Amino acid sequence: MKQFGLNIWGNDNFIIKNNTININYASKPSLLEIAQDIRDKGYKGPLLLRFPHLIEKQISTLFTTFEKAKKTFGYQGKFQAVFPLKVNQFPNFVHALMDVSQKYNYGLEAGSKAELIIAMSKTPIGAPITVNGFKDKEMIALCFIAAKMGHNITVTIEGIGELQTIIQVNTEFNEDVENPILPKIGVRIRLHSSGIGIWAKSGGYSSKFGLTSTELLEAYELLKKHNLLTHLSMIHFHIGSQMSDISPLKKALREAGNIYADLKKRGADALCAINIGGGLAVEYSQHAHNRDRNYSLDEFANDVIYLMQEIAKSRGVDEPDIFTESGRYVAASHAILITPVLELFSQEYHEKNLRLKENNPPLIQELYDLFSSLTRDNAREYLHDALDHMESLLTLFDLGYIDLEDRSNTEILVNLIIKKSIALLKNEDTNELKRLQNRIQEKYLVNFSAFQSLPDFWGLKQHFPIMPIDHLDVRPTNPASIWDITCDSDGEIDFNPDLPLYLHDIDVSQEEYFLAFFLTGAYQEVLGMKHNLFTHPTEAVITFDEKGHYAVSNLIDAQNLMDVLDDLDYDTNIVDKALKYKIEESEHISKEEKRELLGKLYLYLSENSYLKTIQAISEND
Ligand code: PLP
Repeated sequence: MKQFGLNIWGNDNFIIKNNTININYASKPSLLEIAQDIRDKGYKGPLLLRFPHLIEKQISTLFTTFEKAKKTFGYQGKFQAVFPLKVNQFPNFVHALMDVSQKYNYGLEAGSKAELIIAMSKTPIGAPITVNGFKDKEMIALCFIAAKMGHNITVTIEGIGELQTIIQVNTEFNEDVENPILPKIGVRIRLHSSGIGIWAKSGGYSSKFGLTSTELLEAYELLKKHNLLTHLSMIHFHIGSQMSDISPLKKALREAGNIYADLKKRGADALCAINIGGGLAVEYSQHAHNRDRNYSLDEFANDVIYLMQEIAKSRGVDEPDIFTESGRYVAASHAILITPVLELFSQEYHEKNLRLKENNPPLIQELYDLFSSLTRDNAREYLHDALDHMESLLTLFDLGYIDLEDRSNTEILVNLIIKKSIALLKNEDTNELKRLQNRIQEKYLVNFSAFQSLPDFWGLKQHFPIMPIDHLDVRPTNPASIWDITCDSDGEIDFNPDLPLYLHDIDVSQEEYFLAFFLTGAYQEVLGMKHNLFTHPTEAVITFDEKGHYAVSNLIDAQNLMDVLDDLDYDTNIVDKALKYKIEESEHISKEEKRELLGKLYLYLSENSYLKTIQAISEND
């Protein structure tokens, strides 16, 4: 698998050129040259690269696909979209998002007060803002302030209590006002349909969100009683992120469409929109037999438009505007984490590590002969012989007949024979070979924290595409598992024989080897945790000028050690004083040495927690 499944998850965003993976845009630079460029500026740890052109591509594809579906069916309602901030609130992302989406009247969705403040400050006046999630009086008051600023804001009620608070806040804000201005009101409905997959709990009858039919009727009466029915404009649902199957969406659309029609017929004349939430899935799979979704965006858009049209027609109501809050689909592809491999943990199985003697025990000599004369035709037989010999040799060691060197030679030779046989028999996908791959897997120690950079892998075993950014002209043969640098065994991406990852056999003390983790732009950054105090990695934005050349901007270095402690509310002055005092008062070192130690200590304190590669250490020395 030299392509690492690029044709499955890559969406034509990358191409392999000679030996590197390159951005399939403008001058098509390689990820390697961009990463080296940044590393040359002194940033040696993991790098999170953001590509605004990939955000633009997703937004423009979303809008053009829905416009195409509308045209196909002659649909009268509008299509509008907002970005759910929970998916990525980082300023380098949000600024790029707002920048590339201007022509689409694209807005933001907020689920908390802090997100609402981002939405109020960053959304252009006129573009939609939707506000979901649980709200108190203060949050609802913020929505009123946004409306009075001129924002096109819809506050979605998640329960009757919230509606009562809206009524109360409206009285406070608008009682004596000649032209009352208030946010539009949306209702989140609790559907019977739920999504499918690991995030399906956001929808369905037992979900924590939304109004039941009984509550919906109660809300309708309350709105009517308080003259607010003219502000009820949107029905909202969200059946869960990363919907792998399209059928639950169709069911949800039917339910929501009929609720919309019923409310309209009842007298909710201002009701004009259905917000279908997020859930549009991203293809993370690197293996054709294990795809993450069974539909395309075209199918998704056609289903939404067709079903809404059908319901509107059969119930005799206007076709609603369609809102989406797709987040993962918009953000995932824009960010790539690139980081060096620090060590390979079975380097000792190299041929150069053999310690063969002048007279080896006969079985070891035989192992060596098997290894030397292995061919495609004899591979299976020799492999079985080697495994058999190993059992005998280990017994001989336990009985004291052979020594540690013989045992080491046995391990190396058998490992080499397995590796070579698997490569020779690569077209024979048997269980035996799969089992053996597991046994010879190489452990790649990678300079990143899975808890910080791939929390959904840690918590939910969500897979992210992984591949090296160099050496792509060589077939990778090492079954690989990936270790992060936290002191936690959960920070390991195991080798899975059914969804295998093969990497190259590189001596990283001689040359650098970088891995890239793709599609990390949605959810991972803000969910990432500082386990072991590894913080958000150094990030940079990569843009392209009119000539197609790339530029690196908005570099934000990972936090240094003292800033990390400051974040945890340590008094860093006290930490600083304690360290200084301990060096100055030490009785074991000279004055000169104390000065040197202090200099070194302050240099280290100004750096981040990530490790330096072997090359970086020698460069610094
Ligand atoms: N809208 C709401 C209400 C959500 O809760 C979520 C995510 O959970 C989204 C939109 C975004 O979903 P996705 O990232 O799957 O598009």
